[in-house]
Amino acid sequence: MTGLGDNIKCPQCGGAARVVWVSEDKKTLAVRCTRYHSQMSPPPTKFGAHAQTKTKKGMVFLVTRTEKKQ
Ligand SMILES: [Zn+2]
Repeated sequence: MTGLGDNIKCPQCGGAARVVWVSEDKKTLAVRCTRYHSQMSPPPTKFGAHAQTKTKKGMVFLVTRTEKKQ
């Protein structure tokens, strides 16, 4: 059972990530990746040609459990 503080795979890059939050029903996890992620979805602006790709470390993702194992 995955619990708070456990190391799991990042849902985005498959790298090392850590569980930082678990919902009460334990179906949703928040994981913080230890790698750098590029932010590929800049907000639309008039200056699209200048869109920057930033990398950010420590991004947090929500993961919803789908397995039905008891
Ligand atoms: Zn990652």
